[in-house]
Amino acid sequence: MSNTPIIYMDYASTTPLDPRVFEAMRPWFEMHVGNASSTENIHGLNAKKAIDDARLKIANAIGAQPCEIIFASGATEANNMALLGLRSYLKDKRKTHTVSSPTEHSSILEPLKLVGNTSYSNLLPCGMADGAFVLNEITPETGLISIQMVNNETGVINPLKEIKEGIKDKDIIFHSDASQALGRIAFNVNELGLDMATLSGHKIYGPEGIGVLYIKQDLQKHVTPLILGGGQQSGLRSGSLPTALIVGMAEAVTLAIQSHKAETEKAEYFYNLLRQKLDRASIVYSINGHDQGSESLKWRVPQIINIHFPNIENEWLLEAIDGISFSTGSACNKASSKNLSHVLTAMGLPTQHITQSVRLSFGRFTTEEDIITCAEIFIDAITTMHQLIETKTA
Ligand code: PMP
Repeated sequence: MSNTPIIYMDYASTTPLDPRVFEAMRPWFEMHVGNASSTENIHGLNAKKAIDDARLKIANAIGAQPCEIIFASGATEANNMALLGLRSYLKDKRKTHTVSSPTEHSSILEPLKLVGNTSYSNLLPCGMADGAFVLNEITPETGLISIQMVNNETGVINPLKEIKEGIKDKDIIFHSDASQALGRIAFNVNELGLDMATLSGHKIYGPEGIGVLYIKQDLQKHVTPLILGGGQQSGLRSGSLPTALIVGMAEAVTLAIQSHKAETEKAEYFYNLLRQKLDRASIVYSINGHDQGSESLKWRVPQIINIHFPNIENEWLLEAIDGISFSTGSACNKASSKNLSHVLTAMGLPTQHITQSVRLSFGRFTTEEDIITCAEIFIDAITTMHQLIETKTA
């Protein structure tokens, strides 16, 4: 094995822990002890204070109130809580119809199978949910719309504002999985008219094992908890709160908001640089997702690039390239036997196109050199593969 560091291009699956987040959490691993629910002693009170501060920071960052921030083990649990927690309330109201999108993460799609009556949006060619279609699907029985903010495989941004406008006078709960959005696009839950939103720690340089479900205050009384026990977090999600992870999540959220502008500029530059390198080497490729002229970065985040290289199987690339960690889609679908991206499939792309596509995702700790080296490695691998194909068919 060579000593050359492997370039990490899989930020969409998980981000490295930011050292500043680690430093914020460190005292809660090394020194402090205390259960935030055990408030009869100073240790418990200190933990409670740290968690209250963290809640405030996260709430401020997304335009919510501290009591609207419910901690969970990650975005998977938060998404489950959002969809399954409202099932009996919506059933009682006879509003059992849900509208969602086929490109959602499996932690939305799987609970939706239990929820039952769901319409899935048509997609625009770029993979974006069709806002007009979503609104058109609404019936008097529609109780919930769940549409993610940014897609984890293509980086495409969904038209939440358009949906919000269309439902503002309707009695419909609006949820968005914003796990891939925080730090990549600026958003405010109130401005987007969201009743619920999902966040994940390890997608924003925070720790794994922590996530948030924002639940609007007046909706909370209608949510049936998935996890029962000591009644923590107003009974919405029982279990002792992991102080260190929560402190880390708040630090990660704060850093994500502070660095959003600078990181977006850097990411756009890297995105263009990578493409420029491929173009200059005359590599044939296309972007899966929005790629229409100068406006295209308005509708997708630059940090996630899903690329199709015609005639080059992604498995060959995974096999041939050992200097870069990249993927062929969502890490969360790898348990399935077929392994074909459900996002690209829903976009109507043929199987062969999908098996010739890879996802490169980068972020805060990616350097210009990483991007240049990554482009060179891909160019080399693809050029060699084309030569081999030509020799075979000659
Ligand atoms: N939603 C989206 C859009 C994601 O990308 C992911 C992680 N791939 C999840 C939910 C699940 O997040 P977690 O690992 O925090 O459960």
